[in-house]
Amino acid sequence: MSFTVAIVGRPNVGKSTLFNRLTGKRLALVDDQPGVTRDWREGEGRLGPHSFRVLDTAGLDEAAPESLEARMLAQTESALEQADGALFLIDGRAGLTPIDEYFADWLRKWGKPVRVVANKCEGLAGESGYLESFALGLGDPIRISAEHGEGMTDLLDVLDALEESSDFREAEQDSEHALNMAIVGRPNVGKSTLINALSGEDRMLVGPEAGLTRDSISVAWEDDGRPVRLFDTAGMRKKAKVVERVEKMSVDDGLRAIRFAQVVVLVLDATGGFDRQDRVIAHMIAREGRACIIALNKWDLVDDPDTVLAELREEIGHALPPLWGVPILPISALTGAGLRKIMPKVWEVYETWNVRIPTARINRWLDDALAAHQPPSASGRRIKMRYATQIKARPPTVLVFCSKPDALPESYIRYLTNSLREEFGLWGIPLRLRLKKGKNPYA
Ligand code: GDP
Repeated sequence: MSFTVAIVGRPNVGKSTLFNRLTGKRLALVDDQPGVTRDWREGEGRLGPHSFRVLDTAGLDEAAPESLEARMLAQTESALEQADGALFLIDGRAGLTPIDEYFADWLRKWGKPVRVVANKCEGLAGESGYLESFALGLGDPIRISAEHGEGMTDLLDVLDALEESSDFREAEQDSEHALNMAIVGRPNVGKSTLINALSGEDRMLVGPEAGLTRDSISVAWEDDGRPVRLFDTAGMRKKAKVVERVEKMSVDDGLRAIRFAQVVVLVLDATGGFDRQDRVIAHMIAREGRACIIALNKWDLVDDPDTVLAELREEIGHALPPLWGVPILPISALTGAGLRKIMPKVWEVYETWNVRIPTARINRWLDDALAAHQPPSASGRRIKMRYATQIKARPPTVLVFCSKPDALPESYIRYLTNSLREEFGLWGIPLRLRLKKGKNPYA
């Protein structure tokens, strides 16, 4: 999940310089003249493990003094509507001005997270403005120099907190809104039959011809009192004759369904094995970071269930490391066998997708995992891993600080990922492990 940060503050406090530093762009004109930037711009920001949308609000210099605040706020307001949180910049060297205080009053009522950032604090400059800004009543300010890149570790902390609160809000909204679910798979594996069986209504066309359902269709119902919205796709069909454009459209369609969903049910035909197309769809689910279960349909046609299940488990596990251990449910959409187990599993992987593991527990796990299998050496020195923390949910993403991230072999990363999965029961989600060079920056 991505989040949006607005950079706000009066003219000439360094908003554009910070915007440029975060986005790596050098598009805006920045100089010491107040109000060089005139419109609010947006860019893709990156800092440490985070990638987010940044909005840079306008500076104003032409306004008549009595209307300055009003005009500034009107422009800032439109940016803030889109943001999950704001960085409120002040000029540490100039200290607080009445306009800063006016802004602060207004931001306090805004209701979303705001952090005061005292800019132009390179070296000891800006100390007085920084200290003054505690009085704004918006929590502890941080000190940075956007121009010299100082204070970026503190900024990283602030972004962590912003991301956390935007995840949190999204999760809260979910509990009021429907769970979004998608049922995807090749044509003719039984998706429509399954949707009808799950939603208890014959809303869709079901037929023996491949690709009978043409467009994405959504079906809504309640499961145990909780609203569910289900997205069906036309199937990611693959016919020899189909022109490439049509095929691309239907794949796009499936991708749209996957992006729409929080939990994806990938339907396989138990009589057809796990083929290349299934693998492509499964990779899409993993890449988009969705929770997933696999429904092995047409189980009524399988003669030797134990062997088939074991073989498929093995095959899927090897083909899909990002979804290692994904729940596989044998079902028959036609006879109804096994269907009762689907929704409880869907809710279970959805919870896992949202899980937040306390940092202390992750670090206890890390110590144990490192002790059980030491990391290898690189150029004669053992690679060290010092600290781990979950930086986001949906799907769970864990950041590990490491002395030489580039030298750590893929096999060791896989070992850590699987160990983390087992320790915390993180099945059915594309668990993400990120490495970052350095020591614990939060200490
Ligand atoms: P879709 O293209 O994935 O939506 O597939 P459909 O739901 O249209 O089903 C394709 C065909 O498979 C239809 O003839 C269904 O009756 C049949 N089918 C679906 N589920 C099962 C099942 O569990 N067992 C058997 N034997 N046939 C099934």
